[in-house]
Amino acid sequence: MIDVILKKGKEKAVHQRHPWVFSGAIDRVKGKPANGDIVRLVNAGGDFMAYGFYNDQSRVALRLLEWDENKAVDETWFRTRVAEAVDGRKNILSTGETNTCRLIFSEADYLPGLIVDRYADHLAVQVLTSGMERMMPVVIDELRKLLNPKSIFDKSDASSRQHEGMDTENVVLFGDNPPESVEVTENGVRYNINIAEGQKSGFYCDQRDNRRIVAAHAKGKKVLDCFSYTGGFTLNALYNGATSVTSVDSSALAIETLKENIKLNKLDASKHRAIQSDVNKQLRAFKETGETFDIIVLDPPKYAPSRSALDRASRAYKDLNRIGMLLLNKGGLLATFSCSGAMDLETFKQVLAWAALDASKQVQFIGQFCQPEDHPVRSSFPEGEYLKGLLCRVF
Ligand code: SAH
Repeated sequence: MIDVILKKGKEKAVHQRHPWVFSGAIDRVKGKPANGDIVRLVNAGGDFMAYGFYNDQSRVALRLLEWDENKAVDETWFRTRVAEAVDGRKNILSTGETNTCRLIFSEADYLPGLIVDRYADHLAVQVLTSGMERMMPVVIDELRKLLNPKSIFDKSDASSRQHEGMDTENVVLFGDNPPESVEVTENGVRYNINIAEGQKSGFYCDQRDNRRIVAAHAKGKKVLDCFSYTGGFTLNALYNGATSVTSVDSSALAIETLKENIKLNKLDASKHRAIQSDVNKQLRAFKETGETFDIIVLDPPKYAPSRSALDRASRAYKDLNRIGMLLLNKGGLLATFSCSGAMDLETFKQVLAWAALDASKQVQFIGQFCQPEDHPVRSSFPEGEYLKGLLCRVF
């Protein structure tokens, strides 16, 4: 195994078990590891620090796996990590409330670059590091042993793979092509999921708990669900007795699937209006016509892909929330989210305070949202915490 020597003064994060070593922290490499090889990280004095995946194409040149020198990072090591991650989701899957969840969440489950989502009997996988790509035969074999899925489909995200110098292929890794639509249940709501064509791996199961919390306020209310995708918040609100729900999303496929999901759940279509539009435009159109709502959900895509984009993203979040606040009836609720890892909850609260000032509104934070237990945050990897939200009462 090839030794990679860490620069002096860069030991702290490794000791704290942070799984990333940036290329700038590496002093030299003894030999020529191939990308995806497992190497030994040693300090300047040559003492062992950790084993990790090597990739000289990535800013994160090493993704650390194991800090105990005596533990071999072999096939059994990977099988054990996969089994532990799957075991950690038994609680969610055993309630009968849902048959879709994230089974493996990359670094948070000690498997850097591997994401596995379960949709009933089908699995969607994202492989984002060259090291993980090499281990896929073992991972697939273990997933089959543990879960006996009908299919395993690769839905790797192109831009993340590019960072590692890898091409993107969406291919069937096991079984048949996943059917065009797979039916799943979550919070008692049914969804058709298009694994091959849908966004990300097909469904945003990270909002499971938050959909339920928001819907608990929806009885007798007029709801606006912005960035609705295939209807997570919309369907939960209709189930819980909302008098009407308006869903806005720019994606035609999302809106079409959402309408099918209304039928699938035998919900009253006359209480639902779907608008395919840019949310910012649509909110301004509501402002013009004077239409208002009792509850507004704002669940935009990631505005801040990195810390350097935070200032610009903060302004975008502020503008979106300001106009959202202006469309609420007095005492109405704003359920607002940010899935940008670079934006922490405190900063998000400041953005909301800023939006409230600009809108001349009073805002009370009455609840906080976070990512659910199948998207764990590893204590040594705070970067894995990305989803946050606030439930606000607006006067
Ligand atoms: N709330 C959804 C998930 C939202 S994901 C759920 O519970 O499942 C973000 C969504 O925003 C995607 O569906 C995407 O199509 C949509 N989107 C992105 N930019 C948009 C824009 N400017 N206007 C409207 N929709 C947008």
